[in-house]
Amino acid sequence: MVYLDNAATAKPCAECVEAVVKAAGERFGNPGSLHGMGIASGQIVSSAKKTILAALGGGTALEGEVLFTSGATESNNTAILGTAEKYRRNGKKVVTTAIEHPSAAKAIDLLEARGYEVARLAPKDYEDFEGALADAVGGDTMLVSCMAVNNETGYAVDTARLYKLIKRANPQTIVHIDAVQGFLKMPLEGDLISVSGHKIHALKGVGALYVKKGIRVAPLLVGGGQQKDLRSGTETVELIAGFEAAVKAYRGDKERFARLKARLLDNLAQMSGIRVNSDEKCMPNIINFSVSGVRSEIMLHALEEKEIYVSSGSACSRGKRSGVLAAFGVSDKDADSAVRVSLCADTSEDDIDFLCESIKANIERFRR
Ligand code: PMP
Repeated sequence: MVYLDNAATAKPCAECVEAVVKAAGERFGNPGSLHGMGIASGQIVSSAKKTILAALGGGTALEGEVLFTSGATESNNTAILGTAEKYRRNGKKVVTTAIEHPSAAKAIDLLEARGYEVARLAPKDYEDFEGALADAVGGDTMLVSCMAVNNETGYAVDTARLYKLIKRANPQTIVHIDAVQGFLKMPLEGDLISVSGHKIHALKGVGALYVKKGIRVAPLLVGGGQQKDLRSGTETVELIAGFEAAVKAYRGDKERFARLKARLLDNLAQMSGIRVNSDEKCMPNIINFSVSGVRSEIMLHALEEKEIYVSSGSACSRGKRSGVLAAFGVSDKDADSAVRVSLCADTSEDDIDFLCESIKANIERFRR
C-alpha cells in the first residue's frame, strides 16, 4: 500500500498507540477526581500541555493556555465564535481568506449572519498576502482568522510576520491561526492557534486550541467547568496521552519532503497536460496538480486499484469542488481534474516512482 493522503489523516504512530493503551490500562482515573488516580491522569494532561506549548513555539515554549478539544473543528469554532463573544466591543469587522477550511469558514459565515462585515482575501490577488491581510485591518477589525498552511495546496503563510503586521495595524485585533497543516512543520504565532491530533499521527478525536496569555475566549461547551471553565467535558486522557506521544515522536523532515516533491515534479514534467497547483510558496509535503482530460475521481479510483491512496483536491470537500483552488487562480476545469498528494515521514522515493508510473499509465488509459 502507498498511502499519500496524510493531509486528510495520518496513520497513528506506534508511540501514540502505545501511550493510548498504557493510559487506558493504567491511568484511567478522571482528572477531576481528588484521589491519586485522578491526579495521575491530570499529570498526563498537564505534561501534554507543556509539550504542545513547546512544539508550537518551535522549541521556546509559547506563553498561555492549551485547551484540549475534540479536534480542530472544535478549536476553530471555539476560537472564532468565542472571540466574537468576548471582544464584541472591538468592532464589527472580520478579515479572513477565501481558502479557509470549512470548520473556520462556516464559523465566520455565522458571524456574518450575525451582522459582522467579513473581508475574504484570495492569494491569487496579492503578491504579498500577509501584507494584504494586514492592510485590510482597520480600527474596527475584531478578528483576523487565517490558516498557516492550506490543506489543498500546501500554500504557507508566515504567521510571525502576519502577526506583527496586524498588531501594528491594530493592536486590539485578535489573530486566530488554523495551524492544522502547519503544526510541527513551521514556527507559529497567533493569539489563538488551532491544531489537530490525527494530522500528526495521533488518534482522531483530539485537538487543541492555544490561547495566548491575556487573550479571552468564551467556551463553546459549558458544563462541569473542566479546563478552567473554557472547555467543559472530562478530558480525553487516553487520546491526550497519544497526542503528546505523537508530538514527541514526529519525524517529518522538510528537506526530505522537498526532495520527494522535486522528484514528483520532475516526473510529472515529463508527462503532457499537467498543471502544478502548488508553487514555491507551498509546504513541500502537500502537492496539488491537475491532469488535463482525466477527472479527479477517475484518477483517484484508478490509483486505488494499485493500492495508491491520494485525494481529489481536499478530503473534506468529498468530491465537491470547494472553491479553494479558484482562490489560487485554478480554473474550474483544472480543479475538476486536481489530485492532492500529501506525504509523511514514511513516504519513500519508491512510493513516488510507483505513483508517477501509475499516473502515466492512467493518462494513457483515460485521457480524452
Ligand atoms: N483545518 C484544516 C486546515 C484541516 O485540514 C482540517 C482537517 N481536514 C481541519 C481544520 C479540521 O480538523 P479536524 O478533523 O481535527 O476537525
